[in-house]
Amino acid sequence: MDFDMPATVRKIVPPFAYLQRPTGLTWRVHFRRLRPATTWQKRQLVAVGRLHQQRRKGLGLYGGNMSAVEKIVAGTVGEDVMTIHKLAVIDEYTRRAVCGAQHPSGVTDIWRRAVNCRECLAIESDSRP
Ligand SMILES: [Zn+2]
Repeated sequence: MDFDMPATVRKIVPPFAYLQRPTGLTWRVHFRRLRPATTWQKRQLVAVGRLHQQRRKGLGLYGGNMSAVEKIVAGTVGEDVMTIHKLAVIDEYTRRAVCGAQHPSGVTDIWRRAVNCRECLAIESDSRP
């Protein structure tokens, strides 16, 4: 687990700061390890939070707003290595097929192959894999 990522400080109990990502992930660090977030990191935090809210509301990833997605890559979902989807990179640990294909384990793999999932190809995306 990489803890060197931007997060919101939820509370401070010396000598620890309790941090939270918009996705709900929480952990604590010694407050001496805290650094102010860069502008880019702040923007990224807001984007992750917005996307997470959308998902919770059940609007799906593609309720017409692609702006929260960092980038799109090509890859597979679960054990099906024949179907190459467009995978939206949501944060450090999360990728989702834009067509909604999912594997219960959430496993996705990035491939250097052309997207061949018809549903993914039918969905417009700004960034190309
Ligand atoms: Zn797909």
